Amino acid sequence: MIGVGRMTARAADRAGGPAARGGEEMPRDAKRAADTALPHGDAERYLVGGVNSPARAFRHVDGAPLVVTRARGAQLHDDSGKAYVDFIMGWGTLILGHGHAGTDRALRHALSRGALFGLTHPAEAALARLIVDAVPSVEHIRFTASGTEACMTAVKLARAATGRAKLLAFEGCYHGHSDSLMARKSAGITEGAAQDTITAPLNDIKAFEELIQRHGQELACLIIEPVAANMGIVPVEPAFLARVRELTTRHQIVLIFDEVVTGFRLGYGGAQGCFGMNADLTVFGKIIGGGLPIGALGGPKSLMRHLAPEGPVYHGGTFAGHPLAMAAGIATLSELKAHPPYERLEELARQLADGLQELASRAGVPVHVNRAGSMLTLFFSDAPVRQFSQAKGVRRDHFARWAVGLREAGILVPPSPWEALFLSTAHTERHVDKALRASRSIFARGLAA
Ligand code: PMP
Repeated sequence: MIGVGRMTARAADRAGGPAARGGEEMPRDAKRAADTALPHGDAERYLVGGVNSPARAFRHVDGAPLVVTRARGAQLHDDSGKAYVDFIMGWGTLILGHGHAGTDRALRHALSRGALFGLTHPAEAALARLIVDAVPSVEHIRFTASGTEACMTAVKLARAATGRAKLLAFEGCYHGHSDSLMARKSAGITEGAAQDTITAPLNDIKAFEELIQRHGQELACLIIEPVAANMGIVPVEPAFLARVRELTTRHQIVLIFDEVVTGFRLGYGGAQGCFGMNADLTVFGKIIGGGLPIGALGGPKSLMRHLAPEGPVYHGGTFAGHPLAMAAGIATLSELKAHPPYERLEELARQLADGLQELASRAGVPVHVNRAGSMLTLFFSDAPVRQFSQAKGVRRDHFARWAVGLREAGILVPPSPWEALFLSTAHTERHVDKALRASRSIFARGLAA
């Protein structure tokens, strides 16, 4: 076949219009930017803090951001060519590993049809159907471009549906950075916006009951991560979650499960499937986009009909239902459905969690490892961590020495004591053993300054 680049302009016009004249060659600047080491100082010169998301600045460890040029399977490479076993995995997104063949093929195929239409296309309903079939509480879906946007829209929807203003969230949980959900955690949010957000400690039934007693009639919604993953992994205790479900039903408060992390990660039906519990609204993200930007909210038609164009709650977006994200999401969920990896992932994560706990105990390093399915956090703490106040008290210096030591040994863990390590189907016992061996020698050297 003749490359488009070698066609005459008229032939190219006939083949695909003027745009096709760009040819098959990748623009040289784009290739150079993807492949070469970052010129010294360029990140700081052109990007705020050298990054586009604060966690990537590595300020909780050594403050040296990693500049990544490529990744495959369970490994990624920095711009000096050094390889790392990756336990960040796109912050939980890449459950099938980097560059999964099926997802890659689906992406290439979708791209050949056009990157963006800004109009309805078949893959949107196809991905929505996969989610609806997997999660019984969800009948209708709205796709967004990020988890932040989906959480923000779920809150707005709950307010419109109930005619109430306030929302209840839990300390240490993260639901993206919209004003209501970042109240008192970020500058630039008005007191007016913040006053409608109430926060409660996680896993404290008595405090929760008191808040419901006081504010039950004012609350539009309660939003919760069914396994907290943004203060490190902190499981929500079953009795607590059951009480949350019971009291939100009694007071007609919309219960929003933020399954951006847990959706299709804890199991194919997410946390709701694992715990046998239904949310009123569910927020998804990460895994459902197969590595492309995505978010979604879903629930029964009776609630979802409040969204425009059916109802008065406005949500829309140029990139909502993006063809590439839909294609990667369909490929990912289809693979997870056809070959559920959850037992194997959990076994691997258990080996890593138990191994770390045992090595630390033997070395006399106070550590508590929390794990849920294929995600885990090593807390450098004397006491178990079941709340944000306890998570905050961990030995940050110990964490930093462990994370920096691992990085030197070619193992990448999230650069913060309050994040989770994620396993993928690309990880093997070999990767887990490598992390355990490196940890043993770091603990043996000692974590004291
Ligand atoms: N909710 C949870 C539970 C998350 O972990 C995140 C992101 N880490 C978000 C919402 C926000 O998603 P996004 O980064 O796609 O905006």
